[in-house]
Amino acid sequence: MKGYLVNTKYEVVIGLEVHVQLTTATKIFCGCSTRFGNAPNSQTCPVCLGLPGALPVLNREVVEMAIRTGLATNCAIAPRSIFARKNYFYPDLPKGYQISQFELPVCEHGHLNIETEQGEKRIGITRIHMEEDAGKLLHSDLGEGSLVDLNRACTPLLEVVSEPDMRSADEAISYLKKLHQIVVYLGVCDGNLEEGSFRCDANVSIRPWGQKEFGTRAELKNINSFRFIKQAIEYEVERQAEVIEDGGKVVQETRLFDANTGLTRSMRGKEEAHDYRYFPDPDQVPLVISPEWIERVRQDLPELPEAKFERFVREYGIPRYDAEVLTADQAMAGYFDACVKLHGDGKTCSNWVMGEVQRRLNDEGISIVASPVSPELLVGMLKRIDDNTISGKIAKTVFDEMWKSGKTADTIIEEQGLKQVTDTGAIESIIDEIIAANPGQVEEYRGGKEKVFGFFVGQVMKASKGKASPAAVNELLKVKLQ
Ligand code: ADP
Ligand code: MG
Ligand code: ZN
Repeated sequence: MKGYLVNTKYEVVIGLEVHVQLTTATKIFCGCSTRFGNAPNSQTCPVCLGLPGALPVLNREVVEMAIRTGLATNCAIAPRSIFARKNYFYPDLPKGYQISQFELPVCEHGHLNIETEQGEKRIGITRIHMEEDAGKLLHSDLGEGSLVDLNRACTPLLEVVSEPDMRSADEAISYLKKLHQIVVYLGVCDGNLEEGSFRCDANVSIRPWGQKEFGTRAELKNINSFRFIKQAIEYEVERQAEVIEDGGKVVQETRLFDANTGLTRSMRGKEEAHDYRYFPDPDQVPLVISPEWIERVRQDLPELPEAKFERFVREYGIPRYDAEVLTADQAMAGYFDACVKLHGDGKTCSNWVMGEVQRRLNDEGISIVASPVSPELLVGMLKRIDDNTISGKIAKTVFDEMWKSGKTADTIIEEQGLKQVTDTGAIESIIDEIIAANPGQVEEYRGGKEKVFGFFVGQVMKASKGKASPAAVNELLKVKLQ
């Protein structure tokens, strides 16, 4: 079935469950390190190994991060919340249950705003709860069985559950990117999708336009990039439409996305769905969060992407597009912010940061924090453009040299003699020579062929090795060519 047919007959409904791995130094219920990549089982203790008699103790930092995330996503923070046991058997889960939250999660009733073609749209956040991660199974290629690494067991996660408010794959991606940006800004998550620090399950259903009830949903798992999530949703929507068009019924099931084929396939149906037999964990006291604690966390929140975006547009007067690009990355936004504070003009700074600076970063595959040109160096150079010491063209040469050597613009201009020639006498004599050497072109110009003017500008700039002030050249040429 073709996509356009899906969209005219059926409305798409999407709700997302996102697992956010927190950046705490230690695990959620024990003091073991959360560091990634160390030798298997080197970061374990009786608690995260699930040994009998070991008692888990909640990591305060995890609660702090949950409150931060809740506040940043407009949630209400529960004054009292409960940890529950989610029971299931799998070899990567030594206790036979996962400590999670069920009936009373730490955050509820939040929302995020996303940009859509129809304008701003609010996506509801049902709940955010804290839980521990499971370990990892390593399957032998030789058929010798599987090994278990419990370093990841007990690593803290937040699960962020959205309302089924999204109506297209694009809206789902906008929401995910927004949430991703927020948790990274907050410093609660490193945001690495490939390493699994930010994992998304997508619940997808369709219904005929105008129908009130939701259709039956499939839950798509195992998707580790924004691009794949979009692909998986789009494929799944088509699949469901085909099932219905063929007279069948969509069944509720969990499906796996295969990045190699771009298809989703059934993993388990509703009948095989787990019955987790949740009950309050008797090892944990109810978590009580005081209003003072919440207030303290609120005071401590950084400026979030949306507020930064608005400030850049309002105070610095840059286009919305520029503000969007610059706030996508917190460090980039900080760099730009520092530039404007030193220089004063937003648009001049955004042009250079999004232009030359970004280009060099891309070329070398490094991030802004590693830029050899600091805001001070960049603005030092911009000021030499402003006061006509150098032209915009020469500035690119100076910038490249700053990037290589880390020297200030003033030093480079001095050392390489790049100072712009504004002395009209010197420019005039160059112009006289060029005019004398090109009588044919002079005639053409005087005969009305104005395009030739550019030729003269080029010749004069070349003769001055790019150092003549372009403004002065233009002005003087007009007079001399009359
Ligand atoms: P479960 O615990 O089985 O995953 P939930 O009711 O908690 O089920 O829902 C999980 C997610 O599925 C939520 O993000 C919710 O918005 C979404 N969802 C629920 N019903 C639908 C539906 N019919 N279509 C799409 N998404 C749905
Ligand atoms: Mg689910
Ligand atoms: Zn441990």
